[in-house]
Amino acid sequence: MNIKSNTFVKFLTLGYVFIFGLVVFSAYIFFNYEERLSLSLQKYAKNITFQKSADELLDASSQRSILLVRMMSTKDIFEIDSLRMKMYQHGLVVDKSLINLKETSLKEDLLSLKSVRKFMLANRDAQNMVYDLVMDDNVIRAQKELINTALPKQRKVHSILYSLSKSYNQKSQDSFVQYSALVSEMKMMILMASLPINFSLIVVAFLSIKRLQKYGLEQQALLDNLENLVQSRSQELFLDKQLMQNLSEAIGVFGGVFGSDEKIVIYNKKMFKLIPNNINIDKLTIWKLLEYIFEDISIERIQHKLFHQKKWRGEARLLSSLETFVIVNIALVEDESLPDNYYSIVLTDVSELKEIQKKLEVTANFDEITQLPNRRSFNYQIAKQIEKNPNETFHLLYLDLDNFKWVNDHYGHEVGDQFLYDFGKKIQSILKGEHAVYRLGGDEFIILIKVHYSETKLLNLAESLITAIKETMIKGSYKQEVGCSIGIATYPMHAHETGKLLNCADFAMYHAKKEGMNRYRLFDDEMNRELRYLHQIEENLKLAVTNQEFEVYYQPQYQLKNLNLIGAEALLRWPQGKNADVTEIMPSEFIPLAEKYGLINELGEFVFKQAVSQLMIWMKLDAPLPRVAINVSSTQLLSGEFGEFVDGVLKKNELLPSMIDIEVTESVMMNNLDQNDSLNTNYLKNLQRKGLEISIDDFGTGYSSLAYIKHLEVDRIKIDKSFVDDIVESSEARSIVKSIIDIGHSLGLKVLAEGIETASQLETLQMLECDEGQGYLFSRPIPAKEFQVKCLS
Ligand code: C2E
Ligand code: CA
Ligand code: CA
Repeated sequence: MNIKSNTFVKFLTLGYVFIFGLVVFSAYIFFNYEERLSLSLQKYAKNITFQKSADELLDASSQRSILLVRMMSTKDIFEIDSLRMKMYQHGLVVDKSLINLKETSLKEDLLSLKSVRKFMLANRDAQNMVYDLVMDDNVIRAQKELINTALPKQRKVHSILYSLSKSYNQKSQDSFVQYSALVSEMKMMILMASLPINFSLIVVAFLSIKRLQKYGLEQQALLDNLENLVQSRSQELFLDKQLMQNLSEAIGVFGGVFGSDEKIVIYNKKMFKLIPNNINIDKLTIWKLLEYIFEDISIERIQHKLFHQKKWRGEARLLSSLETFVIVNIALVEDESLPDNYYSIVLTDVSELKEIQKKLEVTANFDEITQLPNRRSFNYQIAKQIEKNPNETFHLLYLDLDNFKWVNDHYGHEVGDQFLYDFGKKIQSILKGEHAVYRLGGDEFIILIKVHYSETKLLNLAESLITAIKETMIKGSYKQEVGCSIGIATYPMHAHETGKLLNCADFAMYHAKKEGMNRYRLFDDEMNRELRYLHQIEENLKLAVTNQEFEVYYQPQYQLKNLNLIGAEALLRWPQGKNADVTEIMPSEFIPLAEKYGLINELGEFVFKQAVSQLMIWMKLDAPLPRVAINVSSTQLLSGEFGEFVDGVLKKNELLPSMIDIEVTESVMMNNLDQNDSLNTNYLKNLQRKGLEISIDDFGTGYSSLAYIKHLEVDRIKIDKSFVDDIVESSEARSIVKSIIDIGHSLGLKVLAEGIETASQLETLQMLECDEGQGYLFSRPIPAKEFQVKCLS
């Protein structure tokens, strides 16, 4: 805008300088013409005067001659005197005309004028002579003198003057013409000069008006803009104020920081309400405010923090209502646009949050069903106990209910929950508030004995707890016995860490449970060794899976009626070649561990691939192996990825799917039936559809028993070894096996007997028309090479 107005001023100055120049120039032209005009006018006047003087001269001279003639013809003396008088007067005119002529003539004509004068004087002399002669009455001679002397002179003057007059006449005409030409030229020039002046004036004026108009518009727009800005800013300010007034936080600003003058400048309704009524608000400083409204607040500390860090945040309780907790935020407001530094203070009511926090703490630390503290608070308590008294003994009692699942299954979860609650209350009443009890989850509880107890005291307590469960059960009139297994561990004797100590108690409980219902065990050295061994196995197992240290053994399966080889069961082995001190670990030991540590899928896939490729090798032999049975764990089957994995292996190897027999346990089968009614998720059904055979392993050991066989659409039942063991001696076992075989046959299933160790067992089974069998009688599981030699050649 500045640049624009500057150029405009420049333009105006230049425009006017230009116009001024034009005016000066035209004035110069005008003055120049004026001089020339006056010169030519003077010239004209001179010429005219010259002519006039010549005419007067000639006229006067002629009049004198005429007067002379009249004098000659009169005798009256008076008349002659009068004529003489007149002549004299004409003579004066002649003289005057002569002077005029001289004055008005040009230099070059002065010579001619001189001769005029000479002739005129001669003429006058002759006329004087004529007069004298008339006076002498010599008229004749006077006539002669007049005609011969005076008149010729007069004629001479006349002719000279005539020619001069003629030229002066011409000159006067010329100067007139010149004058007129100059006048019109001047008119033209004035016009010519005034045109650009006017034009420039118009242009400059037009542009100035335009510029001014634009400037005016710009100024108007600027003003409008400013007005809008002011309006929106005041709206914003209004909204800000509204916002501040309606905030749930109390807000205040205090001015004049670090002086003695930290008085309140701005505050909202909330803040106003907090200030006690008897306080003069105009004199209220930030420090006074803190002192008036909060319960013990250290102003010095706040001032120190503010001085160093420019802000302070803390929690405080209101004096006016001690249940109200507030977060106080004080900050130094420094800004260049502000005349001074200020303090802002914001108070946020967090009482409700505090209340919620309290409730959350309860939920986070307590179990909803039993109202007992939970695992989280157990961990916290133990950690605190160890930290506080690291050398002091304490004991943990790990309680796990026996058969609790049965309560839930038969009476529903509500009764189950009530049972847990009652049991918790019962334990608490036994402990008489001396020791803490926690619910770890499910049907597991833990008791913390914070002081040293003797072994007998501990066992007595365990005994009374077992009685308590029985009492709970009786009171609740649960028909089936629910028991309780207890494991006991001691700090720091058994472990120094919470997790490890809990493991010890858990392990002792596991041992107690193994022994039957309602047992208790103290953790001992034997268990310690076992636990360490298991831990070692865990570590080794993880390594072995990564390094694929496993091998697959094969146990042959035979048709019992003719003892033809019909297949082999693939069984996993973990060779302990490198660890000479470790005796061989059997699958029944490491398979559950592999499941626990999430290694079973990897392990299962290894066996499957291994068995299939072995089968492919043996297919090329003269007497190939007709089928391989592969054990698949429930985790593996139910993970949902097994089907896809099988597809992949089948695609890679050209073999009939019916050459693979999948062995699953009865419980897996039942779970699969329970949970996966839909076809998509019925994993077993999907495998069967691919053409694989399905066998139920360990049949007879699970819940299902014979009643369920009907529902199991499988190819084969494997009678568990425990039935075969007693088949010769026990008629009961024999009749069970007989019914399994009969029902199996009636449903079109093949029946295989496991664990045939003796010839009499074999005979009995043959008699009972069992289709197939395997066992040490034929062969133990053996490595592939050995199997090939022993069974396939
Ligand atoms: P299982 O499926 O019931 O396997 C049969 C077990 O009985 C095998 O023990 C086998 O060596 C043993 N056995 C066979 N005939 C006789 C006999 O005449 N007398 C005696 N006393 N035992 C006999 P193993 O190999 O120790 O396997 C134990 C269990 O480990 C298996 O029971 C199976 O449940 C599991 N298992 C073995 N290999 C695998 C595998 O690759 N995957 C999965 N998921 N489980 C496997
Ligand atoms: Ca098996
Ligand atoms: Ca079995």
